[in-house]
Amino acid sequence: MKTQLDYLTTLGIESWQLNGIPKKEILPENSSWEKLREQVAACTTCALHKTRTQTVFGVGNFNAELMLIGEAPGFHEDKQGEPFVGRAGQLLNSMLQSVGFHREQVYIANILKCRPPENRDPQPDEVNCCTPFLQKQIALIQPKLLLAVGRIAAHYLLNTKQSLTRLRGQVYSFGENKTPLLVTFHPAYLLRNPADKGKAFQDLQHVFEMLQ
Ligand code: SF4
Repeated sequence: MKTQLDYLTTLGIESWQLNGIPKKEILPENSSWEKLREQVAACTTCALHKTRTQTVFGVGNFNAELMLIGEAPGFHEDKQGEPFVGRAGQLLNSMLQSVGFHREQVYIANILKCRPPENRDPQPDEVNCCTPFLQKQIALIQPKLLLAVGRIAAHYLLNTKQSLTRLRGQVYSFGENKTPLLVTFHPAYLLRNPADKGKAFQDLQHVFEMLQ
């Protein structure tokens, strides 16, 4: 069984050890969730429904304190129907484990529920069509903290075009509830730029500290 130190080593970080946080119980789906899931599965509002294998709703703990928001399904997510799987998903799991979180403790969703062809960036009209689903997910979960994973998610959630480098390291607030929001790199970016894994770990450590 992997230890926290193993996950840090996966991230290329060997000098940090943190205590884990207690797991929260995973609640069964209620009617609001079921209704929303059905709406997403049947959605044909934008053109992406024509090329999807299936919608990718979201996964995790409906009572999560931490909600991660990514960009859009990629090849593997489109096939499996779950966000952040494949190599990028494994790295995200390691990032979470490095600060004592388990994937099952958090909730993970994307801006878009359908894969853009060739993994291109989401287009503004697609984001406009799809984000009411995400807004509803955030409203149902009411997380204590939001983590924008990658540039696209950060730009939508913060309504900005600033670079991710400039957005990292600060605490923002999101929506009417003024939910605290942090920004970090997308794991797919970290697979291409492993030198930035240490910065991603700093971001996750910040998340951990804010939830204590
Ligand atoms: Fe509907 Fe969103 Fe899929 Fe577009 S991306 S078809 S809005 S679920």
